[in-house]
Amino acid sequence: MKFAITSKGDSVSNTLMHKMRTYLQDFDLIYDEDQPDLVVSVGGDGTLLYAFHRYRSRLDKTAFIGVHTGHLGFYADWVPEEIEKLVIAIAKTPYQVVEYPLLEVIIRYIDGGREARYLALNECTVKSVEGTLVMDVEIKGQLFETFRGDGLCISTPSGSTAYNKALGGAILHPSLPAIQLAEMASINNRVFRTIGSPLVLPQHHTCLLKPVNDVDYQITIDHLTLLHKDVKSIQCRVAKEKVRFARFRPFPFWKRVSDSFITDK
Ligand code: NAP
Ligand code: MN
Repeated sequence: MKFAITSKGDSVSNTLMHKMRTYLQDFDLIYDEDQPDLVVSVGGDGTLLYAFHRYRSRLDKTAFIGVHTGHLGFYADWVPEEIEKLVIAIAKTPYQVVEYPLLEVIIRYIDGGREARYLALNECTVKSVEGTLVMDVEIKGQLFETFRGDGLCISTPSGSTAYNKALGGAILHPSLPAIQLAEMASINNRVFRTIGSPLVLPQHHTCLLKPVNDVDYQITIDHLTLLHKDVKSIQCRVAKEKVRFARFRPFPFWKRVSDSFITDK
């Protein structure tokens, strides 16, 4: 089996990365940065987001595992003290794999043919470059509302504990193939109206955001921020691709939520 390790880049994560690399090679596993079967991310959730995008073109052939060198993460849920145990578990493959849903974002531009396709592990956010974001929100081809406010956040179930949670969105179990649309400070008065509640859409329900006036947007895909000019529409739905995580021990999602946000009992 071939593996790669991604580090957050600080000295603690780098030391751990080198240690794991040596241990895994001692078990005759092959280090291959280009075509790994297993990617170990050492750092935090942000490090795993980075690793996900780095190996984005081979998601069907790669499984991820996260070790955290800071606080407990949702994707990085192994502690450095456990790495000997983890290395032995990895060496004794085959391991169990769990799959989580992803968000597909297709941005189309006014000038026709050109479009850009992205996959997000956490979410996509849309903000205007200047002033209030005004966008028509279509769901399954029907106009649902005209949104006015700071922005919109469309998240995956595993991303629902990130930005989405800060916006008052619900936490979704990652076994649900769904996406969630959450508002950022919508304008609501007698003239302008939005639903106000986060919406959860099932697979095959497409959410299409269409500019009303302005056509330049600041769009994030996980940790990546890009300025998109001359946007015609932004299409969001559950992706056909999934992300695969290697599971070596049970760590139920709701326990991860409780340990992260309530207390680590
Ligand atoms: P960051 O500024 O370090 O991330 C913000 C925090 O979100 C970090 O504590 C990060 O954990 C945590 N996080 C990332 N994914 C998570 C998940 N799925 N569930 C729970 N917490 C999660 O930047 P980053 O590390 O590059 O992460 C990018 C993410 O930051 C974006 O995808 C977005 O979700 C989030 N974000 C949140 C807000 C907000 O809450 N208001 C605003 C902007 C962005 P680590 O420390 O382990 O990396
Ligand atoms: Mn981070």
